Amino acid sequence: MAKKREIKEYSTDPAAQQMLIRAESLGIGTAFSRADDMAPCNIGDKGMCCKNCGMGPCRLTKNGDVGICGATLDTIQARNLTRAIAAGAAAHSDHGRGMAMTLKAAANGKAEGYYIRDVAKLRTIAALYDIPIEGRSPEEIANELADLYLAQFGQQEGRVILTKRAPAKRQKRWEETGVIPRGVDREIVECLHRTHIGDDQDATHILQHAVRTSIGDGWGGSLLATDISDILFGTPAPILGQANLGVLKEDYVNVVVHGHEPTLSEMIVAASQMPDIIEYAKAAGAKGVSLSGICCTANEILMRQGVPAAGNFLQQELAILTGAVEAMVVDVQCIMQALVGLAANFHTKIITTSPKVKLKGATHIEFEEEHALTIAKNILKAAIDNYKNRGKIEIPDVREDLIPGFSHEYINYMLGGSYRASFRPLNDAIMSGRIRGVAAIVGCNNPRGQHDYLHTHVARELLKKDVLIVETGCGAIAAAKQ
Ligand code: SF4
Ligand code: SF4
Repeated sequence: MAKKREIKEYSTDPAAQQMLIRAESLGIGTAFSRADDMAPCNIGDKGMCCKNCGMGPCRLTKNGDVGICGATLDTIQARNLTRAIAAGAAAHSDHGRGMAMTLKAAANGKAEGYYIRDVAKLRTIAALYDIPIEGRSPEEIANELADLYLAQFGQQEGRVILTKRAPAKRQKRWEETGVIPRGVDREIVECLHRTHIGDDQDATHILQHAVRTSIGDGWGGSLLATDISDILFGTPAPILGQANLGVLKEDYVNVVVHGHEPTLSEMIVAASQMPDIIEYAKAAGAKGVSLSGICCTANEILMRQGVPAAGNFLQQELAILTGAVEAMVVDVQCIMQALVGLAANFHTKIITTSPKVKLKGATHIEFEEEHALTIAKNILKAAIDNYKNRGKIEIPDVREDLIPGFSHEYINYMLGGSYRASFRPLNDAIMSGRIRGVAAIVGCNNPRGQHDYLHTHVARELLKKDVLIVETGCGAIAAAKQ
């Protein structure tokens, strides 16, 4: 068993600390206490075990050890990392595939409540690929763009077309090192093939393919997901928002959307503002419906609609611990199985919505684009019906104001204006040394470390050294709460 930590060692966030004290007083476990209870395996922790075939698991403890098949430590570590990259690329890029299918459905009038909000971005993106735009309707252009993007997944030869948008110098380096992805799915499949027993057993060669797969995701599946989210829901621009558990409201029906996809959450935002839903909530004794988000779904609706973020990955359990959440609506990725057991201590309904993700014991209301608005309303009604079951609540009085929405399109406009949109002032500042560069801070938090500390510490140190930062995911929400 690892050492039991003090509450302050769990998190730097006072709202999280308050909820962790509540969890302890109620005798309820969280990811933090489970991390204390279960020390990580010191072999698996360093990627030194292999279970890629039935002769294993092979546990290597030092350099020079080999598995039953003779695989060396560097081969096993490279294979483990590559399999992790394949799984991550599959998850992120599959989200992109879903977005492309939604765009196609919206272009063909088969997605209830969706329409093309950012026609200018659609035309700009389409023109990058020589898709004709003059004299065509947004729907015609969107249909062709959706087909082009969907083709990037199953493509076998050539290159993922979006990689042509990278800086020329970067593309040249990718070409020289042989890491240009051919097709998003192809590279993920090849990761699994190469790392299977008896295949690629040269660590450098394995990792070269891991890089190719990562580029297929970052400059393929994930980039096209961003393009389509902007086209369907609007390119972000600065907007006032709030973050932390204090955004939950005592006298409203609280619905927390959690996961990664904007498709359903955007529709829930729209439905929550409709008069029939507000009336339904009032009839149930609440003032209305208050939406907030957890994880990247939170970021999606925060930067576009100003919907507050209740917290990041490690706050999904803490939001339920307030006792004030009528429903947590989840889609894909970062959803802890522990939510269902935790919610059983309160009245919170856990509602799964993706055909890919079910949790045993949760309510499943499957999301279909054809009936998106109707389904969003049904989910909200289920949450409102649950309001009467609320027990004792404790919402931390902790929230911060923030301004999200600095898309690269907005920064371009901000630095140059409507007529001379440009990154030039930023480039000049970097060239003159006043700003020393731009760093991206990305990624989740981990209960084995102190929640939020690493993200905010790195951000502060970089800012002190005149490095500009851009953030996504849990890091962005950690910064927002400071
Ligand atoms: S499979 Fe790996 S991580 Fe799991 S217990 Fe065995 S050695 Fe540890
Ligand atoms: S692939 Fe080799 S190292 Fe891995 S489990 Fe099988 S025998 Fe062991």
